[in-house]
Amino acid sequence: MGQTEGNASPLLEVRDLRMHFPVKEGIFLRTGKYNKAVDGVSLHIAPGETLGLVGESGCGKSTLGRCVTRLYNPTGGQILFDGHDITHLKGRELKPLRQDIQMIFQDPMESLNSRHTVGDILSEPFIIHKIGNRKARQKRVLELLEIVGLPARSATRYPFEFSGGQRQRIGIARAIALNPKLIICDEPVSALDVSIQSQIMNLLIDLQKEFNLSYLFIAHDLAVVKHVSDRIAIMYLGKLVEEGPGQTIYEKARHPYTQSLISAIPIPDPRHHLQRQVLVGDVPSPINPPSGCAFHPRCPKVMDECRSNTPRLLPLKEADAEPGQQVSCFLYK
Ligand code: SF4
Repeated sequence: MGQTEGNASPLLEVRDLRMHFPVKEGIFLRTGKYNKAVDGVSLHIAPGETLGLVGESGCGKSTLGRCVTRLYNPTGGQILFDGHDITHLKGRELKPLRQDIQMIFQDPMESLNSRHTVGDILSEPFIIHKIGNRKARQKRVLELLEIVGLPARSATRYPFEFSGGQRQRIGIARAIALNPKLIICDEPVSALDVSIQSQIMNLLIDLQKEFNLSYLFIAHDLAVVKHVSDRIAIMYLGKLVEEGPGQTIYEKARHPYTQSLISAIPIPDPRHHLQRQVLVGDVPSPINPPSGCAFHPRCPKVMDECRSNTPRLLPLKEADAEPGQQVSCFLYK
């Protein structure tokens, strides 16, 4: 977990971000509808802080991450990084941003060029950004391998020669190569065995402390983000439905969706089965979202007004609310 700097200016500030993908229909492929993958999300991350972003598959969290790195061009809203508006940067204007914001992917095999040696893969960022000569790059590659716990001989080997956990270490080494300020970790341990997961999580925590990194840590599993997140935001169908300090979200979740996610975390004590709040059905399509509160068809506490009115993410007013705790639900007006 990072050192949260409560009053520090945010490193990243996302304001009312929208990413609506046009959906082509009919024989003339006209745009009739939009996939509202991200639909009005606001969040912020301080230097050295980790924000966990949690939701089921298809809720828009990876799309949000790709908007922040500007792999996607957002269709609305604003992204401020280090005080600069990066929402509409294009072409060469994006180059400095590629140094400062990096991504770690779920499957490093997809992002690592299998025909290149690890040494070449780790040298590539320096070549693209014209940093150092060949000798300096080779030295830095060996440093990066040591930082992520891989032997120097890894430099001459190919990605397929490594295990999943080792490949993720290579992905992390590439992500930190240019000394970024922010890393978008998109489900970085989801494809790994549980024992390897904790090793990778510990590596990320150590790197954060050493280099004062900020993380947007995307996961579908609340248990994964619990130990690394200063704050946690819960996303459902393109919108944030709850946000607050990590421990508070885990212990005193207010939104019925968050409560369902927490209830899905395995607990060794069999008596807890009785209290489980099982989520029924899948996440609805963001092309045809339900009316009112998008969670209402699956909500165990649904009320009449939930079907026609849309709740907004607002600070929780209850006496025991923690600073920064917000929820989007008519149960907490
Ligand atoms: Fe459930 Fe209504 Fe709250 Fe939505 S607004 S989470 S449907 S109680």
